[in-house]
Amino acid sequence: MDATEQSLRQSLSEKSSSVEAQGNAVRALKASRAAKPDIDAAIELLNKLKLEKSAVEKELQSIVSGSGNGSLNREAFRKAVVNTLERRLFYIPSFKIYKGVAGFFDYGPPGCAIKSNVLSFWRQHFVLEENMLEVDCPCVTPELVLKASGHVDKFTDLMVKDKKTGTGYRADHLLKDYCTEKLEKDLTISADKAAELKNVLAVMEDYSPEQLGAKIKEYGITAPDTKNPLSDPYPFNLMFQTSIGPSGLAPGYMRPETAQGIFVNFKDLYYYNGKKLPFAASQIGQAFRNEISPRQGLLRVREFTLAEIEHFVDPENKSHPKFPDVAKLEFLMFPREEQMSGQSAKKFCLGEAVAKGTVNNETLGYFIGRVYLFLTRLGIDKERLRFRQHLANEMAHYAEDCWDAEIESSYGWIECVGIADRSAFDLRAHSENSNVPLVAEEKYAEPKEVERLVITPMKKELGLAFKGNQKNLVESLEAMNEEEAMEMKATLESKGEVEFNVCTLKKNVTIKKNMVSISKEMKKEHQRVFTPSVIEPSFGIGRIIYCLYEHCFSTRPSKAGDEQLNLFRFPPLVAPIKCTVFPLVQNQQFEEAAKVISKELASVGISHKIDITGTSIGKRYARTDELGVPFAITVDSETSVTIRERDSKDQIRVSLKEAASVVSSVAEGKMTWQDVWASFPHHSSAAAEDE
Ligand code: AMP
Repeated sequence: MDATEQSLRQSLSEKSSSVEAQGNAVRALKASRAAKPDIDAAIELLNKLKLEKSAVEKELQSIVSGSGNGSLNREAFRKAVVNTLERRLFYIPSFKIYKGVAGFFDYGPPGCAIKSNVLSFWRQHFVLEENMLEVDCPCVTPELVLKASGHVDKFTDLMVKDKKTGTGYRADHLLKDYCTEKLEKDLTISADKAAELKNVLAVMEDYSPEQLGAKIKEYGITAPDTKNPLSDPYPFNLMFQTSIGPSGLAPGYMRPETAQGIFVNFKDLYYYNGKKLPFAASQIGQAFRNEISPRQGLLRVREFTLAEIEHFVDPENKSHPKFPDVAKLEFLMFPREEQMSGQSAKKFCLGEAVAKGTVNNETLGYFIGRVYLFLTRLGIDKERLRFRQHLANEMAHYAEDCWDAEIESSYGWIECVGIADRSAFDLRAHSENSNVPLVAEEKYAEPKEVERLVITPMKKELGLAFKGNQKNLVESLEAMNEEEAMEMKATLESKGEVEFNVCTLKKNVTIKKNMVSISKEMKKEHQRVFTPSVIEPSFGIGRIIYCLYEHCFSTRPSKAGDEQLNLFRFPPLVAPIKCTVFPLVQNQQFEEAAKVISKELASVGISHKIDITGTSIGKRYARTDELGVPFAITVDSETSVTIRERDSKDQIRVSLKEAASVVSSVAEGKMTWQDVWASFPHHSSAAAEDE
């Protein structure tokens, strides 16, 4: 815990005791009918102590609520953002006229434009720059695919139920809310208790279901809506189930992620790529998760857009040729050790983090760096972006290492991109279940002499002993790994026979020495066959967009000072509308000129709005600021126009003919505003605004 917070909690507890003791003293004096001056002096001291206590309380409150802003401020800020977003149709609660359904949202016009800009930048930054192979697979997925991937058995969250009403809640969320609320709102807890709650928050991702249940009991947490007691936590599968075809007999699910579509296509994609590794495939599409109790608006929904990359790499060589391009980046990282020891995220140099082994390998590090560049170029504030490493139990058992890009919003730190080294788990699982080897080959320049295990089942003897089951015996013997085979060989040599479990027959049989030959032989090999590892960056597009809304939002007072005006400072890259075109006054020539510019903007693919309503310029700017429009063209003559940049409010003057191409160059990032500012007559004036 922060040293100041600790000493303030300590001091508050001492002040509370002094106030209580002095209160008792005053009461005792009054009861004993002490002299009035003595009572007055004691009351005066009591008031002084109360004042001191309240000063400490105030200071502590501002610290625990975070940089003096406080949870109330965070909520007020969120309300202002969300009001603007809903009013300007960035999003709409789905099925609103029927009172909506939790966890579903529609994107309205500006929301759609932003999403399309984010996805098109994603394609440029990842798919194009890295030559990825993009695929587009169905959302409905047959059960056997998701059984193989482990989702049918393990894609669960821990749920607790209200014992009386049956309402379900996510167990970890209840514990998190309890700890956060206690820490922020209950100033009477001791420094030790506060440290304990902070530790629970830091390590709860690591808890087993039993530990989580025990903490919920220990803290006496009840159902938030009714205060009824809660059940023990138990797993709830998050997939929406369906059936394929009219019979109802072919079970399927709405995919909970897009990755499986890529894995099942691995063989074709590998051939398409000329049988070369490494290569990456990507997919953008809808994912569906039946979240237990979706809250947090756009952040936790039941249907959302995922953009996923599966980068296939040789497990023996996870270096990346382009790693030097990102090695010098420095940003906030939160390694496992720092989390467990109660520290906070620190700035690390990515190259050093990989060299020291904090990040498992170069390819994983490369993607962390590329994700950092992607998010900050979109407009995410780099001081409110951190990469948090998964704790040991938080990671799947097969994963080598895993880092989440977390963005701070009014809801706290939110996982927006997961970047995991998933080893060879997924391809192996689908190989085993489909019987199609999903493997890669490395051809040797020179053949290599290698020792190989040779298992030769004696079909005749097996046939005589096991008759119709001979085929199962042959397959099971051939499927033994080296350790099992060598153990069998040793037992056969010492005892002449061995008990052997044939899993396809679900029984043990006795294998005799004459039924199988097991040996190791030197062989010349021309290639190595292996299952590639996969490094997977997985982007929750809706979460990134919501955080971007918060990071770009601000308010400023109107010129008259009587109103707060809302403003989204979207970078031109993501802004839903890049430019507005206004005639300064209503006259036919200006309107005609505005229409010509509008046509030219449309022909170069620049989203824009033409406003010929004749409202005051200040009001028009305010309206477009709420949509985050970065540029405004004002037609104030028949030959030239001004272009105003939203954040600086600076203006340049360009000829009517050049207007569309100048805006298009800055909106698409081919030129910066500084470049155009230097090239054209300009003035930094906001003279006509807010009138
Ligand atoms: P996961 O496969 O659970 O690591 O999720 C991948 C990404 O999907 C996360 O980093 C989130 O950005 C996003 N995501 C997961 N669950 C949700 C949800 N319920 N609503 C919106 N985005 C989600």
